[in-house]
Amino acid sequence: MKFYKDHYDVIVIGGALAGLSSALMLADKGKDVLVLERHNLPGGIASSFVRGGIEIEAALHEMMSIGAKDNRLKVGKFFDDMGVDIEWLKVPEAYHASFPGVEVTLHPGLERFAKEVDGVVPGTYEKVLKLLNLCHTVFDSVNELSIHPMSKAKMLVKHEAFVKTAGYSTQEVIDTFDLPKKAQELLAPYWIYVGSGFSELPFTIFAVLMADYIGYGSYIPRKFSHEMSLKMAERAEAMGVQIEYRQHVDKILVRDGKAYGVRTARGDEIYADYVISSSYPNKVYTSMIEPASEVPQKAIKMVNARRMSLTAFSVIMILDQPAAALNINDYSIFRGETMNTDILYNNLAGLGPYRYLTCICHNYGNPTCTPEGTCSFSVTVLPQVNGWKTVTAEEYDAVKHRVAKQVIDDMSDYFGANLLDHVLEIVIETPMTVSRYTNAWNGCIYGYAHTMEDHIVARLQTAEEESIIKHLEFSGAHAISGDGMGPQVTNGRKAAKNVLDAMAAEEARK
Ligand SMILES: Cc1cc2nc3c(=O)[nH]c(=O)nc-3n(C[C@H](O)[C@H](O)[C@H](O)COP(=O)(O)OP(=O)(O)OC[C@H]3O[C@@H](n4cnc5c(N)ncnc54)[C@H](O)[C@@H]3O)c2cc1C
Repeated sequence: MKFYKDHYDVIVIGGALAGLSSALMLADKGKDVLVLERHNLPGGIASSFVRGGIEIEAALHEMMSIGAKDNRLKVGKFFDDMGVDIEWLKVPEAYHASFPGVEVTLHPGLERFAKEVDGVVPGTYEKVLKLLNLCHTVFDSVNELSIHPMSKAKMLVKHEAFVKTAGYSTQEVIDTFDLPKKAQELLAPYWIYVGSGFSELPFTIFAVLMADYIGYGSYIPRKFSHEMSLKMAERAEAMGVQIEYRQHVDKILVRDGKAYGVRTARGDEIYADYVISSSYPNKVYTSMIEPASEVPQKAIKMVNARRMSLTAFSVIMILDQPAAALNINDYSIFRGETMNTDILYNNLAGLGPYRYLTCICHNYGNPTCTPEGTCSFSVTVLPQVNGWKTVTAEEYDAVKHRVAKQVIDDMSDYFGANLLDHVLEIVIETPMTVSRYTNAWNGCIYGYAHTMEDHIVARLQTAEEESIIKHLEFSGAHAISGDGMGPQVTNGRKAAKNVLDAMAAEEARK
C-alpha cells in the first residue's frame, strides 16, 4: 500500500496549533488534507513532558481568547465549533505585580481591575477604567474588522477609536490619560506577552491584549497545553485529515511561481494544490524553495527587513512542598527591577542578568496538576534572539546554568526560601531547546517584533504583498496575528481561509 495519496488539496507543514487549526478548518469544508510533522507528537511548543512520573507543562502560562462556556471568545468558540472538547480551567487572577514599591495581586474584570489599581494609587479609578474601556472598544473593532474588512471611510464612522489610535504607540496613548507613573506601571506587566517596549508597541496590540486578558480572564487546559494539540489532532484525523509524524519537510516544490508539493527528508515527493507552512518565511525563502531560482528577491528583502521577536529561557521545577509553604502565593508573578518596559526590553538583548522574570505556579490554576504535597513552579525570561545566537557550543552548558542559577536565586531571595533545596525535578529550556524541538527560526517563539512600522494593522493593509509564491500560505507566530498559542489558532484559520477563498475564486473562473 502506498504511504501517500497521489494528490491532496492541501499539504500543511507542521502539526502544532497553527497547522492543526488550518487542517481542521479545511477538513470541515471537505478538503483533502495531509499534515506533515517532523516530531513524533503533535503540538510543537504546545506540549508537555514527564519527569519522575510527573507530567509537566512545557510552555503555556495562559491562553487568551477562550472565554467562559456561555460567552466564548473566538479561540474557545473555534474549539467548540470543531468539536475539540477541552476542559478549560479559569486562571484565578490577572497577575501579581512586583516591582520597586509595589506588591499587589490584580484580578480580571475591567471594573475590578480598575478598583484594585485605585487601591494602590488612589484617585485613578475613573481614568484607568476609561483606558480599559478604550482597549475594549479597540478590541471589538479588531475582532470585527478581521472578519469583515471595510473601506477606510466606513471604518472612520463605525470604528472611530480604532482608527484614531491605530497610528500611535502604547506609551503615546497612555500619556493622554495623565495617569501617575505607578498606575501606568501597574498596567504594564503583560507587555512581555507581546514582546515590545511601550514606546514602540502599537496601541492596537496593547488594547487587544488588555481587553482579552483583563476583560475576560485567561484559561488553561486541565491536561496542559498538550491537551489542545492532542485533541485537535485526534479530531482532525476523525474528520479525515491524514497526519504523518516524523516527516520533516525539506523542500517546497515550486514551478512558474506556484507551489505544487513538498519533498520530505526521507525523499518522498508529495503533490497538492496548496501548501501551508508553519516553518518561518526566513527558513522557507532561504533554504526550502526548490528550485531556489523560484525565490523572488522581494521575498529575501522582506524577511531581512523584519525584526525577529523574542525567544524563551525557562526553568521549570517540581518542588517538594505545597506552594504556600515556600511563600509562593500566586498563579502568575511578574517581577521587574523596574516597570519601564523600554529599559526591560533592552535588558533582553544580552545573556543576563535578566531584570524581568515571569513566574507561574500552575497549582493555583490546576490544583491537582502535581502530586499532593508538591508544586510546579517556573521562571521564564524571554530574551531577544540575537544575544543567544552568540553562544558557542563550548559555552552553552555554562551559560545555561549561569542564567538558570540567576533566575532561581532571584526568586529564592524574593520568597525567602531557597528553591534549589526543594527541587524534585528541574528542566531548563533555552532558545536552543525551542529551536531543536520545533525548528523555529533562531528559536524565536513570537514571530516578528511588533513595531510601529510592522504590526497587524500595517500588515493587514499590505497582506497581498506577503503572498509572494502563489498557492503557498504561512501560518504560525510569524503570520499576521502574531505570537501566542491563541493567536496561532487565528493564524491557522486565516491561512485556511486564504486557501478556501483562492479555491473558490479558481472554481468561479472555470
Ligand atoms: C516557555 C514558553 C512559554 C510560553 N507561554 C505562552 C503562554 O502562556 N501563552 C501563549 O499564548 N503562548 C505562549 N508561548 C508562545 C507560544 O507557545 C507560541 O507562540 C506558539 O505555540 C507558536 O505556535 P506555532 O504553531 O507557530 O509553532 P510551533 O509550536 O513552534 O510549531 C511548529 C510546528 O511545526 C513543525 N515543523 C517545523 N518545521 C517543520 C518541517 N520542516 N517539517 C515538518 N514539521 C515542521 C514543528 O515540529 C512544530 O510542531 C510560550 C512559549 C514558550 C516557549
